[in-house]
Amino acid sequence: MTSTDAALSGATAPDEPQQRRGFFDFTLMAVLLYAVYAMTPLGAIAETALNVARGQKQRPSWLATFKGRELATAVDDSAVADASAAEGKIPLPIATAAEKHKIDVEALAALVSVHGSCTPTTCDVTAPPRTSTVFPPVAGKARLSADEAAQAIAAAGKEHGKNAELAVEAMFVGSIPLKLALSQAERSALENGEDVEVHAPFFTPSVRRGSLQGALSVIAVYRLRTLAWPADPGFRITSPFGDRMHPVTGKQAFHNGTDLGTPTGTSLFAAHNGGVKRQSRDSISGNYVVLDHGLGIETVYCHLDSAGVVEGTRVRRKEIVGLSGSTGRVTGPHLHYIVRVHDKPIDPEKVGESPTRGGGLSDPPPPVPPEKAPEKPKPVKPKTAKGAKAADPKPADPKPADPKPTGGDPI
Ligand SMILES: [Zn+2]
Repeated sequence: MTSTDAALSGATAPDEPQQRRGFFDFTLMAVLLYAVYAMTPLGAIAETALNVARGQKQRPSWLATFKGRELATAVDDSAVADASAAEGKIPLPIATAAEKHKIDVEALAALVSVHGSCTPTTCDVTAPPRTSTVFPPVAGKARLSADEAAQAIAAAGKEHGKNAELAVEAMFVGSIPLKLALSQAERSALENGEDVEVHAPFFTPSVRRGSLQGALSVIAVYRLRTLAWPADPGFRITSPFGDRMHPVTGKQAFHNGTDLGTPTGTSLFAAHNGGVKRQSRDSISGNYVVLDHGLGIETVYCHLDSAGVVEGTRVRRKEIVGLSGSTGRVTGPHLHYIVRVHDKPIDPEKVGESPTRGGGLSDPPPPVPPEKAPEKPKPVKPKTAKGAKAADPKPADPKPADPKPTGGDPI
C-alpha cells in the first residue's frame, strides 16, 4: 500500500523534486526495518543471533526473546519511578499489617504504592491501579485493606520462603502457574530461574499481558525500594543528585547521580542482585561498573580505583563491586553513583536504603559485616582541636568522614 502511495504521488506530481522522494523512501525504509526488528519474530531471531555472537548465555529460545520484548514495555517506568520516589517512607498501616502476617514490609509497600493508596490509619489496595495493569481481586474482592493484602501475599508466598518477589508473583498469577513456570525455567537450564523476569515465556499470552505485568510493576518498585546503599552509610554525601554548579567546568549542570566522599580503597557494594552489564574505563568516568538489576533498573559506580567484578558475570546484593578511587575527571577520590530506570536517572537518596531515607523497617541484617571491608581508609584527624565537640551535633560517629571536600564529576 505504501508503494502505491509513492507511485500515486509520483504520478500526480511528476515535477516533485527527486531528492525529496529519495529522503521519503529512505525514512520509510528505516521505519520498516525498525518495525521488523522491534515487533516481529524475525527481529527476535536477529537479536538472538547477536546474543549468540556476543557469547551471551542464558537465553531460553528465540521465541522467548520475542515474548520477553513484548513484556519489557509492560513495566511503566515513570509510574515505577514516581511510586518509589514519592513513597519512600512506610505508612503505619503497612508496617502493622506486614508485621502481623510476617511478610516483607517493602513488598507490601510496593504493592500499595503501585495499586493502592494510604491514609495515616488505613491502606487500600484497589483496582484499577495507576498503571494499565491488572491486579487480580483476591477471593472476589476488588478492594483490599493493607491487612487483607498482607494476608494474601503471605498465603501466596508460603512455598517460596523468604523470596518476596516470588510471593508477589504468585499472588498475581496464581501458585500453580508459577510452579509450572519455575519447573520449566529449571528444565531450560536457566541458572537464574527464580528471577521473575525470565518467567514470561512460560505463561500464556493473556497472563503475560495481564497479571504478570501487574506483578512486574510491583516487583520493579520493590527492587528500587530494597536497593542497598553502595558504601557504608557513614560516608558523607558530598554532592547530591540534581542541578548544581559543576566543580570542574564551573557551569550550571544537572548531576545525574550522588557523590559519596569515599577515600581511595573503600569497598563499594552492589545495590542488588544482577548482572555485570559493563566493566570498562573512560576519561570522564574513570574505571566504572554498570550493573543490570532487571526490569529496567541499573546502577553505575564511577571513578573506581579498581573494579572487583567481571563483565558478563552475576553479582549478589551487597557483594563488593570494586574499590573507590579517583580515576577519570574528578577533583578528589569519591564515588559517583547512578540509579536509573529505563535509562532515566533517578535520585539514589530517594529509593532503597539511603542515609536520608533510612534503612527501612524490614531491613534484614546486612550479609556483609563491617569488618569485611578490606582496605581501611586513613583515619581522619579532627580538624579543630578545641570546640570540635561542641560543633559536632552527632555523638561519636564510628565511620571515617571524608577527609577532603571532594568535588563531583561531569557525568
Ligand atoms: Zn558525581
